Amino acid sequence: MAEEGAVLTRASALHALAYCERLFYLEEVEEIRLADESVYAGRTLHEDLTAPDPSGTEWRSFYLSSDRLGLVGRLDAARQRDGAWIPYEHKRGRSRRSEAGEPEAWASDQLQLTAYALLLEEEVGKPVLEGRIRYHAENTTVRVPMDDQTRLVLSRAMDRARELRSRVERPPITNNSNLCLRCSLAPVCLPEEGRLSRDPDWEPIRLFPPYSEGQVVHVMTPGTQVQRSGRTLVVSPREGAKMTFPIQQVTSVVLHGNVQMTTQALHLCAGEGVPVHWLSGGGRYLAGMASGAGHVHRRLRQFQALSDPGTCLRLARRLASARIESQLRYLLRATRGTRERGPDFRESIGIIRSQLRAVASSEGVETVRGHEGAAGRAYFERLPDLLSSSVAQDLRPSGRSRRPPRDRFNALLSFGYALLYSAVLHAIMAVGLEPALGFFHTPRSAAPPLVLDIMELFRVPVWDMTVIGSLNRRHWDARADFDVAKDHVWLSDQGRRKAVRLFQDRLEETWKHPVTDYSLSYGRTIELEARLLEKEWTGEPGLFARARIR
Ligand code: SF4
Repeated sequence: MAEEGAVLTRASALHALAYCERLFYLEEVEEIRLADESVYAGRTLHEDLTAPDPSGTEWRSFYLSSDRLGLVGRLDAARQRDGAWIPYEHKRGRSRRSEAGEPEAWASDQLQLTAYALLLEEEVGKPVLEGRIRYHAENTTVRVPMDDQTRLVLSRAMDRARELRSRVERPPITNNSNLCLRCSLAPVCLPEEGRLSRDPDWEPIRLFPPYSEGQVVHVMTPGTQVQRSGRTLVVSPREGAKMTFPIQQVTSVVLHGNVQMTTQALHLCAGEGVPVHWLSGGGRYLAGMASGAGHVHRRLRQFQALSDPGTCLRLARRLASARIESQLRYLLRATRGTRERGPDFRESIGIIRSQLRAVASSEGVETVRGHEGAAGRAYFERLPDLLSSSVAQDLRPSGRSRRPPRDRFNALLSFGYALLYSAVLHAIMAVGLEPALGFFHTPRSAAPPLVLDIMELFRVPVWDMTVIGSLNRRHWDARADFDVAKDHVWLSDQGRRKAVRLFQDRLEETWKHPVTDYSLSYGRTIELEARLLEKEWTGEPGLFARARIR
């Protein structure tokens, strides 16, 4: 008998437990579920099998639960044969083969079927003596006796499931790397990266998707309404044609300035875990809504790790080194073979190098912040050197100004950083971390520190390089792309559209991650780094913030 009020274990979760304990933990304890192609295919198979049988001796696709057993599950079918009930489970794949070459049930399938048998037994009030598994890929049915041994295996698995549920730590990655190739949670678990963390010579296979699936919907025209129609977002400008976006193809929605979104549309996004971000007309990040992600276990582990000053210092050093090195490499790379490397340039490079060295021996996060700030000032002083002589004077910066930006160059930087902010927040929520709990930026800031922390890795490669490159290609119109007021400069409607396009294009560009040594888009790299950060406190440290631009 299960404890009163205890969580019921899904029979399908026992399947995951027999497959890999970490998979069980991610799905059942951390509540992470991704539906990959095989899961969708499995669902279709089960839907195809749900036609009712009028004979009355067969039940199809029905739920059973039992507080006494601590189990819940949906049976594919149960049939009565000679007065005895038999549960059926349908699998798309092939059976296991015995040494004699006979078809057998896989241990994970057998465990799941045993759970169904016990549930059925309680339901019909009679012993269930066998269950059957149909393997559709080879049209084979395997019979599984419900004997003492089978029941003992189930009982032990239930004990193990209870034990795992009571833990805060994730179980380790399985030693059988073949299992990971077919695991739907590999993009979350990152087993290959975990192996690399333990063995620097490991050559990881990319199980992480190279591109983001779906699209970010930017709504920018003032007066536009975003509504819901069934499972679709409908974007209706005051003038012009409506656009529709099926929700499963949307990764996030960004609302710029004076646009509206209905409660129904917000509900749809919240229910599907699609974040919504609000930016001011001037491009300042105002607020975000993300739901569904983030289980208490993940946040507890993050809290424990980032309450430790030693961990924060280690991560802060690494983050600041990554940021400063990116700045240094970009300045050197963009001026290679040019006449821009005059005395001022060399002096700034000297400052950046000395700050980089100082970060490595800093004894406190505040000191690291000081070095990172000094390097950043030297970097921004030199950034105009990277602009070609053909760039008009009114598109060049006069120092760095943030709130509000006071020239066109700074307006471009600030707008892109706001877009980057929403992309990083999205990644943090997808991983299930707490954005307010960081290790480098101070919590005094209005923005969640962890977002600002991770952003540091991407400012140079995602946006600074994009802005400089676009200015050198004469992408911008100093009049039509900007709204210039006495005390601020913002992007115009046209300028925002151009910036969003550039930003999205940059996120979709692929590069070879120098640590994992596989190619993926910058957009996916943001999520990868957030996941590698979590690995710093889940037993696979050492990979976060190691990547550098080449
Ligand atoms: S990816 Fe591998 S280690 Fe991770 S949950 Fe799946 S099978 Fe287990």
